[in-house]
Amino acid sequence: MTEDLAAIDAYLRETTASVVSVADEGIVLDRTVFYARGGGQPGDTGVLEWSGGSVAITDTLKRSGEVFHVPGGSPPPVGTAVVARIDWDRRHTLMRTHTALHVLSAVIWRDFDAKVTGGNMEPGVARMDFELDSISVEFGKDVESRLNAALAGNHPVTVRFVPRAEALADPDLIRTKVSLIPETVDPIRVIEASARFSPATR
Ligand SMILES: [Zn+2]
Repeated sequence: MTEDLAAIDAYLRETTASVVSVADEGIVLDRTVFYARGGGQPGDTGVLEWSGGSVAITDTLKRSGEVFHVPGGSPPPVGTAVVARIDWDRRHTLMRTHTALHVLSAVIWRDFDAKVTGGNMEPGVARMDFELDSISVEFGKDVESRLNAALAGNHPVTVRFVPRAEALADPDLIRTKVSLIPETVDPIRVIEASARFSPATR
């Protein structure tokens, strides 16, 4: 299986790797910094470069646990040593968008007891659906100021891995209406944006 370097360090922009296989879905590397679309976040774009060639990567997706880099042109042959580099500006904007959505869901959960039922995300633009009876323009403005107050706290964002059973048993951790995390995901990667949202202080 592809070593998922971004899961450990989301700030890596490139890595050396070698081509394991080339399938209809895309190129499989032995390791990668590309984020495969999932969890509401689009897949990374970027480029693979090797001695004498390069190909743009237009999307990244996961099938049966394998990460596929979708090429925009002719892929390198199996065994080729490549540098895999993501479009960092796009990815960083997606990371910020994604983190903002999680803080939004935390604020709505903390202050209005509503869970997330859906959403969509593009770089810098996103939609999030909540289980609320009704909303108004005033409510939107209220949420916006609560969200901005939370973001102004500039809390550190940390990453940890929690066994699936433990994570699902924690009602404060999984804020989606139904668990949207595929059953094969174990352990679950937990991103913590603030101690303010822990059960003790909610
Ligand atoms: Zn997320």
